[in-house]
Amino acid sequence: MPDGSTGARSGHALSLRNLSKVYGSLAAVDGVDLDVPRGSFLTLLGPSGSGKTTILMAIAGFVEPSGGSILLDDKDITRFPPDKRNFGMVFQGYALFPHMTVADNIWFPLKVRGVSKADASAKIKSALELVQMGHLAERYPSQLSGGQQQRVALARAIVFEPDLLLLDEPLSALDKKLRADLQWELKSLHQRLGTTFIYVTHDQEEALSMSDTIIILRDGKIEQQGQPGALYEKPATRFVADFLGKSNFLQGTVGEKKDGAFTYVCGGQPLVQVGAAEHTKVNGDVVVALRPEKIALSAERPAATNAVSGKITAFNYYGSAYHFQVQTEALGELIATTPAWTCQIEPSIGNTIWLGWEPDASVVVRDR
Ligand code: ADP
Ligand code: MG
Repeated sequence: MPDGSTGARSGHALSLRNLSKVYGSLAAVDGVDLDVPRGSFLTLLGPSGSGKTTILMAIAGFVEPSGGSILLDDKDITRFPPDKRNFGMVFQGYALFPHMTVADNIWFPLKVRGVSKADASAKIKSALELVQMGHLAERYPSQLSGGQQQRVALARAIVFEPDLLLLDEPLSALDKKLRADLQWELKSLHQRLGTTFIYVTHDQEEALSMSDTIIILRDGKIEQQGQPGALYEKPATRFVADFLGKSNFLQGTVGEKKDGAFTYVCGGQPLVQVGAAEHTKVNGDVVVALRPEKIALSAERPAATNAVSGKITAFNYYGSAYHFQVQTEALGELIATTPAWTCQIEPSIGNTIWLGWEPDASVVVRDR
C-alpha cells in the first residue's frame, strides 16, 4: 500500500498522463490521459490492435512506456518494476502453475511475499470461497474446467489484497453461457472487494454490462469515455456509435434550424432531428446515428415525426426479438429490431412496412 505521505489522496487510484508506447513507426498507445476513480470498475474497450493490452501491460510494469507517466495515489510509479506495484493480474495466457494444486497456486503470491502456508491458510480459504472453489482446493489445474481455472486465477490475483486488479480479456476463452455467469460473478466480486478494477475487453456487451466507466480506444487513442448508458445514448462519433451497439447512419444536408431541432434531407427525404445544432451548418453535411431498437415498426403509416416505408429483405428471429433488414427508397437499407412478443408486423420477406422515430431517438455524430 502507498504510505500516504504524498498528501491528500485524490479520488483517483491510478492516473495516466500522456502515456505513449511506440514500436518502430507504430504508436500502439498515443498520448493517453486517464483517471481511474478509486474503487471503480473501468473498462478499456476497443477493436483488436487498438492498444488495450499495451496500456494494461504498461500499468502492470511489463511494458516500458515511450513517454508520459503512470501515477498511483499521485505517486509516479512509471519506472517501478512489476513486483513493486502490488497489482493483481488476470491476463490472457497468464496460466495457473500446472504442477501446483489449486490451494498452492493461490498461496503463491503470498509465498513470494514471505507468508508461510500455515499463516496464509485463512486467506487462501476465503479467496477460494469468494470464487466458489472451496471444494476443489486440492485439485490440479488439469483437473478443472476452463471456467474453474479462471476462477482460481481470479482468486490468486486477489488473495494478497492488491491495490488494483488488472484483467485482460479474462473470459474470452469461455463459452457464451459460462461467460455470462462469470460476468455476474466478477461484478459481484468487485462490489464485495471494493478494489479498483481495470478490465480489458473487445466485447461491447461485456463492457456495457459490467463497467462503471468505459474508455473507447481507437488506434492507441481515447475516442470517447463515459458511463455505459451515456456512451450508448450519446456516442460522439460514428466510430463509437458503430462499435458500441449497432447503428443506422443517415447522411444528409441540413435544412432549417428551429427550437433546438433542425431538418435535414437524406436521399430526398426530409427528416427532423433534435440537438447538436451548434455542430451543424445550414446546407452543411450531417451524420445522424439511429439505433435499430429505437425504430418503431408498423404495417400502416405511423404518426411519428419521421416515417419511411420499405420492404423487408431479411429477418432473423432470436426468440426474444426480431431483427429486420429493410430496404427503403430514400434511406437505403436500415436495420430495425423489435421484441418478438409485441411485434406489430408480419415478418415476411418482401412485405412492405413502415419505420417511424421521433427527432430525439437519434443523435448527431462526428464522422471522421
Ligand atoms: P489490443 O490489446 O487492443 O488488441 P495491443 O495493445 O496488443 O492491442 O496492440 C496494439 C498495437 O501494437 C497493435 O498494432 C500491435 O500489433 C502492436 N504491438 C503490440 N505489442 C507489440 C510488440 N511487442 N512489438 C511490436 N508491435 C506491437
Ligand atoms: Mg489485447
